Amino acid sequence: MKCCSLGVVGCLVIASLAAAAPPAPAFRAGAATSNITPHLGCDIVGGFLPFPATNIHDQLHARCLVLDDGRTKLALVVCDLLGIDRSVSLEARKLIQQGVQIPPEHVLICAVHTHSAGSALGKTRFKFPQGADDYQQFVARRIADGVKCAVNVLRPAQAAFVTAEAPEHVFNRRWFMKPGTVPPNPFGGTDRVKMNPPAGSPDLVEPAGPTDPTVSILALREPGGRPIAVFAAYSLHYVGGVGPGDISADYFGMFCRHLERLLGAEHQEPPFVAMMANGTSGDINNINFRQPRAGRKPYEQMWFVAEDVAGKVHAALAKAAYRDAVPLAARYREPMIATRRPTADQMKWAKQMLAKPAPKPGKTDLPYIYAQRTMGMAAYPEAIPVPLQVLRIGDVCIGTMPTEVFCEIGLEFRKRSPVGSAFLVSLAHGYFGYLPAPRHHALGGYETWLGTSRLDPEASDKMLKALLEMTAETR
Ligand SMILES: [Zn+2]
Repeated sequence: MKCCSLGVVGCLVIASLAAAAPPAPAFRAGAATSNITPHLGCDIVGGFLPFPATNIHDQLHARCLVLDDGRTKLALVVCDLLGIDRSVSLEARKLIQQGVQIPPEHVLICAVHTHSAGSALGKTRFKFPQGADDYQQFVARRIADGVKCAVNVLRPAQAAFVTAEAPEHVFNRRWFMKPGTVPPNPFGGTDRVKMNPPAGSPDLVEPAGPTDPTVSILALREPGGRPIAVFAAYSLHYVGGVGPGDISADYFGMFCRHLERLLGAEHQEPPFVAMMANGTSGDINNINFRQPRAGRKPYEQMWFVAEDVAGKVHAALAKAAYRDAVPLAARYREPMIATRRPTADQMKWAKQMLAKPAPKPGKTDLPYIYAQRTMGMAAYPEAIPVPLQVLRIGDVCIGTMPTEVFCEIGLEFRKRSPVGSAFLVSLAHGYFGYLPAPRHHALGGYETWLGTSRLDPEASDKMLKALLEMTAETR
C-alpha cells in the first residue's frame, strides 16, 4: 500500500497530533484591593461599648484574589473588619455573580477581626436575618469592585503552598486559676477558667487549650517570577495597641505592607496584593501571661508582630515549589444549626437586671450588658443557616466558618483533612459569635457566656464534620 507524499513518518506525526488532547488551559490569577475605610465619627466596635472614630491611622481594605483554572473561577476576599454580617456577604456575592459571573458558592469573604474598624455587623447584632445598612452596602459594593478589578488583571500564574512557624506571638488566653481566684461571671455563676487573667499573676495554673503556631501561605506568581498575591492565615485574634479613636487594620494590614516591601513589590504594576486572614484564634491572643512585657507605645507591638511574621513568611516563600497546573473546586453549604436558648431562670434574671436603672453612658456594666444579650438570644431564631465553605486550590484546601473559632478546632481540621495541606479561616460569610469546642462549655469563661456564644454547645462538632465531608468531595 502506498502512503501519501509525506511518507510513513510524516503520516504518523500528523496522526499523533490529531489524537492529542487540546492543551490544558493555563492557570491564571489576578489580585486587587478596594478601600473600605468608613468616615470619621462612625462607631468603632470591638469592645463592650462602641466609641466614635476620630483619626484614620491606616486605611481599611478588602483584599481580593481571583483564580481561574480555565474551567472554574474562585475569588478570595479578606476584609479589614471586626466581622461581617451574613447580609454583606450575600449582597457582595450577588453583585459579583452579576458583574463577573463567579458563582456565590465560589467566593470566600472573610473579616480579619481588627478591633479598630467601623461595624459591618449592623446596629443590632442579634437581629437575624437583617437588611444591610449604608456602610454594609458600601462594603458589599467595594468587595464586588475589588473582585472585578482582580478579574481585570487575570494573567498566567503559578501557585505554591508553604508554611511557616511563628510560636512566639500566640498564647492561649483561657487559664485555669488557683481555687477561689476566678471572679464571678456576669450571671452570678462561677467559671472554671478565666479569659485574659492578669499577666504574671501568682494565681495562674495552666492554659485551658493549645495554640496553633503555623502560618499557612498560598503564593501566586507570574511564570517569570513576579509575585501576584500571597494569601496567608495565622491563628492570632489581633494585636491591638492603637491610638485613641484610631481606625486601623491592626497587624493584618501592617503584615501586608511588610511583606510587600520584603518581596520588593511596592511599586509593581499591576500591584502585588498580600492578604492575612484570621485562622482559628477564638481563644488565642498576643499576651504572654507567664512573662508580662513592659508597656509599649501605640503601634509598637503591632509593628513588631507584623514585621516578624512577614519575615518568616518571606523566608518560607524562598523554598516554595511553584506549579503551573492548579485545578480548582468549591463546596458551599448552610446547614441549620441549633442556637442556645436562655433558660427560664436566665430570663427571670435578665428581666430583673434590666428593670434596674440603666448604667451611666460609657460605663461597662457586664451584668447589664449580658442581661441585654440574654434578651437578644431569646429573640434569636431557634436554628440558623450557618454558611460553611471549602475551596480547593490544587493540593490545598481552605475551610471556612462564620464564627470566632477555637484554636483546637482548626488543629483538628488540619489533622483530619483528607487533603494534605488544609487550614481553616474564621469569620467568613457571617458572624455567629464564638465557637468553643464542646468541652469548653463545661469550663465556662467569657467565650462561652450566653450571647458571646450563640450556637449549640455541640455545634463545632457538626460544623467540622460537614467541612470534612465537603473537603472529601473536592478530591
Ligand atoms: Zn474577638
